[in-house]
Amino acid sequence: MIDFTLSDEHHLLEQSIREWGAREVLPYIHDNDRAHRFDRERILGGMATLGLLGISIPQEYGGAGMDYIALGVASEELEYLDTSLRVIMSVHAGLNCLSLLSWGTEAQKQRYLVPQAQGTKISGYGLTEPGAGSDARHIQTTATKRGDRYILNGEKTWISLANVADHFLVIAWTDAEKKKQGDPSGMTAFIVERTFKGFSSGAMKEKWGILAGDTGFFKMDDVEVPEENILGTLGEGFKIAMFSLDQGRYTVAAGATGLVRACRDASVKYARERKTFGVEIGQHQLVKEMIAGMESDYQSARLLWLRAGWMKNQGMRNTRETGLAKWFATVASEKAASDAVQIHGANGYSDEYPVGRFFRNCKAAVIYEGTREIHKLMQADYLLGYRTDRPTRCVLPPHTGDVKG
Ligand SMILES: Cc1cc2nc3c(=O)[nH]c(=O)nc-3n(C[C@H](O)[C@H](O)[C@H](O)COP(=O)(O)OP(=O)(O)OC[C@H]3O[C@@H](n4cnc5c(N)ncnc54)[C@H](O)[C@@H]3O)c2cc1C
Repeated sequence: MIDFTLSDEHHLLEQSIREWGAREVLPYIHDNDRAHRFDRERILGGMATLGLLGISIPQEYGGAGMDYIALGVASEELEYLDTSLRVIMSVHAGLNCLSLLSWGTEAQKQRYLVPQAQGTKISGYGLTEPGAGSDARHIQTTATKRGDRYILNGEKTWISLANVADHFLVIAWTDAEKKKQGDPSGMTAFIVERTFKGFSSGAMKEKWGILAGDTGFFKMDDVEVPEENILGTLGEGFKIAMFSLDQGRYTVAAGATGLVRACRDASVKYARERKTFGVEIGQHQLVKEMIAGMESDYQSARLLWLRAGWMKNQGMRNTRETGLAKWFATVASEKAASDAVQIHGANGYSDEYPVGRFFRNCKAAVIYEGTREIHKLMQADYLLGYRTDRPTRCVLPPHTGDVKG
């Protein structure tokens, strides 16, 4: 049975993020954005206190034990405030923590997942490289076995929280022959700590969106990683990278839905305040059209991520549905942000109003975690029978009981 009502716990979560956001985020976001400042203490401290950093991680591993709908609710509410906050959910809670939960050994969960879920350690995800984004099979990072360690060399770029995270999930080639053939079964996933010798990171200096967030690169120069830091088994790296994206894309979908809502609400407010030709601009049909479009996109995007979250709760494979939700919501957020600026006229072209920030922030999500074009191709390939999802050795634990785990 499908139930579209959120539970009391979900509403409480929504409410607590709204109250915290009104107090701790909105008064500062304009200045942090303008200053390109990641307000680490206020944001990460607040999110940890709210239990968001381990929201869907079971309580036995230091998390809040909430279901995957709660992860979506949090992502939607956080991006309503600012995209930089939802990015933290995507890379830390989605791409990294849920992969550790699903593929990690008990020792890895105790060492890495517990502090991450508690928010005392932050985590990131390193797949993209200067020469390989969509074409992840052509990454160059290598991991060479030496005794009971692997020596990692390579560079990961456009990495969210690159200068903030303590632990990274890193995908590297462990099989030189398969690397030459581009066979992804030669890739392995590693847990790499920032403190490992030979690890260094820096910021993307010319970035023009998500300015209150941290985006950078990291380099690995003969970084020694103990064998026990392999996530999954040797050769499972590409599968884990794709599995991680199923979780990250879900948070991007829900987040972009929140951004559509933020554009809608700002536009409604402005359309009731601004007058032209003797009436509120909301009275003009062409303005109504843009606002109505935001509402239909918001409601549709929300249903799509809710379906994906429901499937996750049931333990159903959801790569296709999550991809569709991500594609639809991110494209919708781009349109909503552009229309929101349009509705604000010249004022929209200034940072005096939030819609300019929404406009700069929305674009990245149409690029990361599968570009618009890659998602289009994926959906067409499912329909045409060129693509099917094979079962993976490890799966996301279902969450069919009470919200509390
Ligand atoms: C703000 C931000 C944060 C990010 N955070 C992370 C992170 O934390 N970790 C991480 O690993 N990566 C991260 N990324 C990187 C992101 O995942 C990549 O940028 C993305 O995968 C696209 O790769 P690319 O930039 O190399 O573009 P390319 O792959 O070079 O694509 C360029 C263009 O060509 C198109 N294209 C490519 N191949 C095809 C095809 N087969 N058919 C049709 N069109 C195609 C693309 O759609 C795109 O329009 C982040 C990116 C941004 C902008």
